[in-house]
Amino acid sequence: MSLPPLVEPAAELTVDEVRRYSRHLIIPDVGMAGQKRLKNAKVLCVGAGGLGSPALMYLAAAGVGTLGVIDFDIVDESNLQRQIIHGQSDVGRLKAESAAATVREINPLVDVVVHNVALTTDNVMEIFSGYDLIVDGTDNFATRYMVNDAAVLLGKPYVWGSIYRFDGQASVFWAEHGPCYRCLYPEPPPPGMVPSCAEGGVLGVLCASIGSIQVNEAIKLLTGIGDPLVGRLMIYDALEMKYRDVKVRKDPECVLCGKNPTVTELLEDYEAFCGVVSDEAAQAVSGSTITAAELKAMQDEGEDIFLIDVREPNEYEIVSIPGATLIPKGEFLNGTALEKLPQDRRIVLHCKSGARSAEALAIVKNAGFTDAVHLGGGVLSWVKTVDPSLPTY
Ligand SMILES: [Zn+2]
Repeated sequence: MSLPPLVEPAAELTVDEVRRYSRHLIIPDVGMAGQKRLKNAKVLCVGAGGLGSPALMYLAAAGVGTLGVIDFDIVDESNLQRQIIHGQSDVGRLKAESAAATVREINPLVDVVVHNVALTTDNVMEIFSGYDLIVDGTDNFATRYMVNDAAVLLGKPYVWGSIYRFDGQASVFWAEHGPCYRCLYPEPPPPGMVPSCAEGGVLGVLCASIGSIQVNEAIKLLTGIGDPLVGRLMIYDALEMKYRDVKVRKDPECVLCGKNPTVTELLEDYEAFCGVVSDEAAQAVSGSTITAAELKAMQDEGEDIFLIDVREPNEYEIVSIPGATLIPKGEFLNGTALEKLPQDRRIVLHCKSGARSAEALAIVKNAGFTDAVHLGGGVLSWVKTVDPSLPTY
């Protein structure tokens, strides 16, 4: 399927621009007309993280005239393994600012627009409406569904990508010409079922593989060349070194882009739609959450507690709370953990940030350990408040 170009060509290229983009200009499919379209294009990259880094850098180098970057996060040392738009001296700096500086260094002809805010239901429509195309580099389901809904409601195409460990996926969602993200994934996964990169890890270079596919598709859409990834899902396995694409059909019953849509405006709360933790977990932690300082005090006072780390073994290896016994969350889900729990000591659960231990707490309480608690904020809050000399990840 070929689609018309998204953007009209700019009036002309300057001599500097002709010199800079000469390797594009001599490709017949791009040529002067294509490069002028890129110059006129306004592209927004949601997130300046793993996918946003290579995406922004190549979009800048390619000569996209206006490049928006939206991110409210701060560069952390643990980002540098894959978020190559940031460097060592950017640690502690706003990601959007750091990314904009790199873009300006790569190509001063690009007009960078910094959106140093969190993307919310209050601002997403207004921000998106200023752009021709969105590149989605977000890492959580709530934002993903919001990006999709806003793009469909505004009639805009967007290039989606996702990464986890050695696996990546990419597609172009454009309801006018094909399916949307909800056609592919009508329901968000149950909370806690799909681990994030912060929980499960990601091979740094995978970001480049998927980010470059996203830029490739962006350039094709902007200039109207090639066969865009509309209605196809690209699946990449870095360990097997295999790319394959599968057809994604527009779902006539899609609540957003189907024949009789029931979602005709943005949802009020995407976090609630995706359920950050399940209802059972939310109930379990209510009144049964302790702080890192309280845990430290319990240990110092010699309270008889049984501290359980529900993360995975390789996470435990990176950093662990002294005295914690490792029993991964999976063992709570399949029930084998319960026989390991002492009846005469108080159970204290923790994970990385508190989501997994909340799920485990619900199971433990259901099994009759009614005085069990979990550590709010997990090992991250332990490091922050009790022992900052420990590493985080
Ligand atoms: Zn749809």
